[in-house]
Amino acid sequence: MINFNVPPYVETAADYIQECVKNQKICGDGAYTKKCNAWFEERTGAGKVLLTTSCTHATELAALLCDIKPGDEVIMPSYTFVSTADAFVLRGAVPVFVDIRPDTMNIDENKIEAAITEKTKAIVPVHYAGVACEMDKIMEIAKKYNLYVIEDAAQGVMSSYKGKALGTFGNFGAFSFHETKNYSMGEGGALLIRDEKDIENAEIIREKGTNRSKFFRGQIDKYTWVNYGSSYLPSDMNAAYLYAQLEKADEIYEDRMNSWNLYYERLSKLKEMGKLELPTVPEGCVHNAHMFYVKLKDIEERTAFISFLKQNEIMSVFHYIPLHSAPAGQKFGRFHGVDEYTTKESERLARLPLYYGLKAEQVNYICDKIYEFFGVK
Ligand SMILES: *Cc1c(COP(=O)(O)O)cnc(C)c1O
Repeated sequence: MINFNVPPYVETAADYIQECVKNQKICGDGAYTKKCNAWFEERTGAGKVLLTTSCTHATELAALLCDIKPGDEVIMPSYTFVSTADAFVLRGAVPVFVDIRPDTMNIDENKIEAAITEKTKAIVPVHYAGVACEMDKIMEIAKKYNLYVIEDAAQGVMSSYKGKALGTFGNFGAFSFHETKNYSMGEGGALLIRDEKDIENAEIIREKGTNRSKFFRGQIDKYTWVNYGSSYLPSDMNAAYLYAQLEKADEIYEDRMNSWNLYYERLSKLKEMGKLELPTVPEGCVHNAHMFYVKLKDIEERTAFISFLKQNEIMSVFHYIPLHSAPAGQKFGRFHGVDEYTTKESERLARLPLYYGLKAEQVNYICDKIYEFFGVK
């Protein structure tokens, strides 16, 4: 059986976690959390990076930092995970869903402007499959209308757009280290902060509304409750698990990329024959091999495709059901304009197994079976 996903694991993780336990240092913002924060600051160039308990929480933190209020509108794609919308719905805001581009499955940057109203507060681009949204255009619109940009870069760790790391364009960016992502701590995430002026408040809201971070740095001699907040910091044990992977980040990246490239190479002939479609990586985007998907003719062919692979012990899966078609999406949000591609393209997409440690012979076997499905030698 070839699983769809196997969470990343490196052996040093066990040693690092044991060290936390032995030293009885397992609470938040310990040595490993600091190492992870510093690692991401150095790799991404973000002004500040703070580890959080999830990407969902990092996005919630961003919504609080942008002071999102009831009735505010937030523009995002409908083709995304529920967390993208949840973080803003929790603040009473209305998600306004905009159609995606069929080539990247990302929000169509050319359809954003028409969805802006007087209530619009923010744009939330989601970098699907670790392939960047058209950030130049999105930042230009945000500037023109004075909107916040919060990047859902859950899948975009180690990806870039025109040489700059995803998550660092907007006011805030959110990474995920869920076990299905390229780098994992079981449950976890990070908030990327672009501007110096937002760092202090981010630290405060993340630490229950207290100025404890400042206190620990010795900048003040007492810590106190200074704002609203919550608890968004993970245990240092989880950070230790993640840090072990960060030390091997490039190796993990290369390994995934080799599988991705092999899929692409092997399936190109089927693409040329018009049997299926393969992912598009636009000029200027460097992706991170987070996902390899194919697009079939329609939902019927996709169902047959997934079940054929399953019969051959290969687990492939479909992905998001567009949020605007879900009960909560209908209750809390609205779709702006015409759903030209969101539903249609989401129904055609199937994701193939891809994880750190997937072997070339397994990718080859999967591709052989895909040729068999289409009856092509
Ligand atoms: C995984 C994912 C999330 C949620 O991440 P968590 O760390 O599980 O909260 C949010 N948005 C997108 C696009 C994701 O892929």
